[in-house]
Amino acid sequence: MQFEELQLIEPLLRAVQAAGYTQPTPIQAQAIPYVMTQRDLLGCAQTGTGKTAAFALPIIQRLAATKPAGGRYLRALVLAPTRELASQIGENFDTYSQFTPIKQITIFGGVNQKPQVARLQRGADVLIATPGRLLDLMGQGYIRLDRLEVLVLDEADRMLDMGFIHDVRRIIAKVPRNRQTLLFSATMPPDIQALADDILDDPAYVAVTPAYSTVETIEQAVYFVEKPNKPALLEHLLADRTMQRVLVFTRTKHGANKVVKQLDRASVNAEAIHGNKSQSAREKALASFKAGKVRVLVATDIASRGIDVDDITHVINYDLPNEPESYVHRIGRTGRAGASGIAYSFCDTTERPYLRDIERLIQQHIPQEAGHPYESQAGKPPTTDLAPRKGGSRPAQPNPARSNGQQRPQRTGQQGNGSRSNSQRRRRNRGGYRGNNASHDNAG
Ligand code: AMP
Repeated sequence: MQFEELQLIEPLLRAVQAAGYTQPTPIQAQAIPYVMTQRDLLGCAQTGTGKTAAFALPIIQRLAATKPAGGRYLRALVLAPTRELASQIGENFDTYSQFTPIKQITIFGGVNQKPQVARLQRGADVLIATPGRLLDLMGQGYIRLDRLEVLVLDEADRMLDMGFIHDVRRIIAKVPRNRQTLLFSATMPPDIQALADDILDDPAYVAVTPAYSTVETIEQAVYFVEKPNKPALLEHLLADRTMQRVLVFTRTKHGANKVVKQLDRASVNAEAIHGNKSQSAREKALASFKAGKVRVLVATDIASRGIDVDDITHVINYDLPNEPESYVHRIGRTGRAGASGIAYSFCDTTERPYLRDIERLIQQHIPQEAGHPYESQAGKPPTTDLAPRKGGSRPAQPNPARSNGQQRPQRTGQQGNGSRSNSQRRRRNRGGYRGNNASHDNAG
């Protein structure tokens, strides 16, 4: 499939070419035709699949085709859970709209509102916003959404995780009912399905990652290690210079700072990114990481959302997340845009239940890296039974709203591959964009 086949106008074709894209990604190939017909859409896709262009390109095309003469008012709104994600979406819109008359503004909290208000007063067609700042500025009368034609909810699952559901519903109440609505989410738990049922009208459904599966192009390994030995294991791994751009996850902000200090002592260039850091400190750390000046970025889950850095060679789960979905989000930061990526997880004795939950969620045994110098003496835990627990809500459930009885595709072919050695696994470079592809018309 070529971009030309998607009926995009010439200024957009020029923009994707200038961005260096040669072909649409699967989510783009599937979603763009639906969005162009002004249909509502439910998209199951992680960041890294090219989903921003999947909604941004057809939105820009729609707005450019019907741009009112004189005056500029908000016609499309993209809601994102974090400032990092919002600014990345904004940058993408800048890239894609550069040869069109469409203008966008990005607003988020944690920074002075004055420059944002000044830009709003100059006018824009598209607003990219985090929910809190948007409500603030709406409350102050700087923003009106009553002429909105398109609404996008990006990373809706994270939006809910972060407690934005009431804010999101308050915002949606101010948007005209006859809008087009697009909802993207990496996972489709029941509360997202309920939200989708409420706000989408006869949506098409596209998915590039089956619900609750892990990314296809990422090689995973678990290191059993006791907590006091985690710093030494991290240093041991980082002695490998092929680990060029490494994202390390800790459960807490305090933990992130501690890891940075420890790496500092070991002369490894590292920075932390978490909610206690100022916006400018976070941006600086991210820029240094992107530029390759900082080799290791240490992040907490929330801060990591929307980190849009290609070429992350390794993700290290220094602490395992207690929410198994976070594992999927975390490791999705490597192996992006067709590259192969590697995810290592440290697991101490207390974290073994988390590992079991993760393996059940992704329906896969994560291979153990045995024989490393800091291996836990507690012995290997029993192999996880991948069958869902009685009374548990996972893995993916059918969507009761899906009237045609079609369910999301289930993952196949990747299960129980723990017997292959890790090095064998790592040698294989499975290219291509992540995930299986599925698309169907929800209305049947
Ligand atoms: P996203 O999932 O929207 O965050 O996109 C992930 C990365 O893929 C971004 O760095 C995009 O610039 C890049 N990207 C998006 N579409 C394409 C494409 N068709 N070809 C190559 N790279 C792309």
